[in-house]
Amino acid sequence: MTIDENRLIYNDEIRSDHRVVVTGGAGFLGSHLCERLLARGKDVLCVDNFFTGRKENVAHLVGDPRFELVRHDITHPLFVEVDRIYNLACPASPVHYQYNPVKTIKTSVLGAIHVLGLAKRVKARVLQASTSEVYGNPAVHPQPEGYWGHVNPIGIRSCYDEGKRAAEYLFMDYHRQNGVDVRIVRIFNTYGPRMLPNDGRVVSNFIVQALRGDPLTVYGDGSQTRSFCYVDDLVDGLVRMMDQVGFVGPVNLGNPAEFTILELAQRVRELTGSRSEIRFLPLPADDPEQRRPDIAVARDRLGWEPRVSLDEGLEKTVAYFDRLLAEGGPAGGGAAG
Ligand code: NAD
Ligand code: UDP
Repeated sequence: MTIDENRLIYNDEIRSDHRVVVTGGAGFLGSHLCERLLARGKDVLCVDNFFTGRKENVAHLVGDPRFELVRHDITHPLFVEVDRIYNLACPASPVHYQYNPVKTIKTSVLGAIHVLGLAKRVKARVLQASTSEVYGNPAVHPQPEGYWGHVNPIGIRSCYDEGKRAAEYLFMDYHRQNGVDVRIVRIFNTYGPRMLPNDGRVVSNFIVQALRGDPLTVYGDGSQTRSFCYVDDLVDGLVRMMDQVGFVGPVNLGNPAEFTILELAQRVRELTGSRSEIRFLPLPADDPEQRRPDIAVARDRLGWEPRVSLDEGLEKTVAYFDRLLAEGGPAGGGAAG
């Protein structure tokens, strides 16, 4: 990747990193990131429209004088004084991003334009939460950053996949054209506490179904693969990438341990001691057959690799959902199926 390393290093010398904006900060990943940034002594402004995020995710942070919470939709411009911006605002679960697909692509594209415009004005560094979905249904396995992907441009996942691809592109041209100090991370399937019980993603669905004794809904024959990263590892990677000097990315962040969806269902059944049956349902259109990150770049440039095994991460996530369901859970708490 061609980057003007001198310019980035110069910007670095004149910039503080104290005031941080997290868009999508009340969501699953965003709330963990806000916590981590506060623990590192930063001032954090959490910006969210609460589409899939919840005030409860950050309620425990609200008393902290260094934490602010603002209801704002990033399809509209944002004017704040800030040093760093993590752009996480975007529904991530297929169920939620397909609910209003036009809104989803507006969030990715207009949201990117607005955070990049803000970064340009105030000379902030801005990190884009991109996704393994930019690789689509990948023909190269595992996926390195140099792979351009295999994405259906007109399918039901395109609002998300193409929105994220367009956002990456915008980040690169604001960088090349305007010298904006950008970072791009491609996040692979990440799970953990604070996913919504009705989120629709596979880990939360299976755990909630197993705990309730409902059938585990495996789409297709369950032979498709994913690689699951625990949230703490992922947040560590985001912060490391933001702190990098002279490296724009993109960089893959994910756990390279790969499992079939059927293996995941069996793991969840064992860990919860559930006797739920497995119910096979039709595979959604364009569902990628395989996915595993090549993390050589993250290892080399960030000194990062995941530390939490699937079993360890699932145990923590099961404990979270167990508590949540016992307390009655947030409104609308049925697993999507
Ligand atoms: P999430 O749905 O929990 O979080 C998204 C947050 O963005 C929510 O709080 C939501 O209310 C907010 N939001 C949505 N549209 C908005 C808008 N227009 N304006 C302001 N806020 C808005 O999902 P997550 O898993 O925490 O994902 C966070 C980011 O990471 C997303 O950008 C997602 O695409 C990316 N990502 C996540 C994963 C994963 O496995 N968790 C994988 C790849 C990429
Ligand atoms: N999946 C499944 N049952 C569910 C939810 C998802 O079998 O209840 C499958 C889905 O078809 C996909 C994989 O699990 O093959 C991961 O789905 P998820 O929505 O978590 O993430 P993504 O497809 O975006 O990677």
